[in-house]
Amino acid sequence: LKKTIITVSLPMIFLLLPFVPSNRLAAQQPKNQDQEIAEKYVRSALTEQKGYKLLGEMCTMGPRLSGSANSIRVMRWAERKMKELGFNRVWMQPVMVPHWVRGDVEKAEISKSRGFNGRALNVASLGGSIGTDPAGITAGVLEVHSFEELKSAGSRANGKIIFFNRPMDIGEINTFRAYGEAVNQRTQGAIEASRAGGVGAIVRSVTTRYDNVPHVGVMYYNDSIPKVPSVAIGLEDADFLSEALKCDPQLQVHLTLDCKTLPDTQSYNLIGEITGSEKPDEIVLVGGHFDCWDKGQGAQDDGAGCMQSMEVLDLFHRLNIRPKRTIRCVFFINEENGTRGGEYYGQYADTTGFEHVAAIESDRGAATPRGFTVHGDSLVLEKIRGWLPVLQNAGIDWVRSGHGGTDISRIKEAIAQIGYVPDGQRYFDYHHSDNDVFATVDPREFELGAASMAVLVYLISEYGL
Ligand SMILES: [Zn+2]
Repeated sequence: LKKTIITVSLPMIFLLLPFVPSNRLAAQQPKNQDQEIAEKYVRSALTEQKGYKLLGEMCTMGPRLSGSANSIRVMRWAERKMKELGFNRVWMQPVMVPHWVRGDVEKAEISKSRGFNGRALNVASLGGSIGTDPAGITAGVLEVHSFEELKSAGSRANGKIIFFNRPMDIGEINTFRAYGEAVNQRTQGAIEASRAGGVGAIVRSVTTRYDNVPHVGVMYYNDSIPKVPSVAIGLEDADFLSEALKCDPQLQVHLTLDCKTLPDTQSYNLIGEITGSEKPDEIVLVGGHFDCWDKGQGAQDDGAGCMQSMEVLDLFHRLNIRPKRTIRCVFFINEENGTRGGEYYGQYADTTGFEHVAAIESDRGAATPRGFTVHGDSLVLEKIRGWLPVLQNAGIDWVRSGHGGTDISRIKEAIAQIGYVPDGQRYFDYHHSDNDVFATVDPREFELGAASMAVLVYLISEYGL
């Protein structure tokens, strides 16, 4: 195997070499002064906790669901803050976004059962779901753990509410992988339920925490298949319903929802920047998504990423460091249920005369820093890896090849798309639920995230990629 790799790859290297700009081959070792600057970023972040305080203020203002009036109100607040912090340019970029509203009623209870009649189930409409008519729907329940199991149920699914009850694999150390393996019940459950002849979907919450809080999130429909309502259910009630079905397979569930989708509405990306002193047309972008679900406060997902990004720019001001390249903070709108903000920004990036050297996204919560994932060529990866001794000042342990982030993936021309990766063990305890509140954010962990991104932004701004 080794032999083949050598014979294939050597000629390729010679082919590629003449096209690689020579400055990118020169090894640029971090200098001693970079270590000192990194220590200053960390110290300032940990002692002043400015981004953390801003997150606390933002979280008191209520959730920021795409299309909601409150999301605009909070964005105006963020715009004011960016101006107060003295960014050189602050502007809002108009984007049309989907407008789904939860409504006031989301109720499920067991009916037509001797043992369990009237027992309420803790559910929450999934984002994008249709409602029921005001009287609700009443139907028997078919529990399944996979789409294959649903298919093999055949006519038993007819007229039923399909209960998707496959748990997230809590034995998997990588919680994002475990989430990815369970989440199709939520995103595709209504489609598969309807295809099988079902009239609704109840989906076991995709979470690592055992409580009774429903965890919501986006769900999809297929235009060629009738739409059926879809809800998430808390884990305790999911287990209760499963046990109840064993005792009484004939029980029914009465489901009433008044969520609905309104016409698309006007919203915005919010952008603030510090102009570069030497290469103002080269952008180093750092950002997160501004919208969140309407449960909890969107503190971890993704208020934290936004306020960390804002603090990155403020750290340059606080330390009186003028970046060589322009540093731009972007709050993308509508990551949760449409990615319209990211798409719009990507198109804008392609058509302006600026070059995006790098785009960094923080959208994995506010926990202790672990590393950065880099989507870019191997030279870029090696260059960023070479900065590890500096990044370690902020607690970064590794730099790996990997996905940068949902919103920044739309910035095709960026030399590197980089994902900030904090520890992931607690993230899905909170994700998309009433559990996602400011009290779960630790100030030191949050601030080390802001500092680690600031150090990376500084190095890219100084040396390029
Ligand atoms: Zn997010």
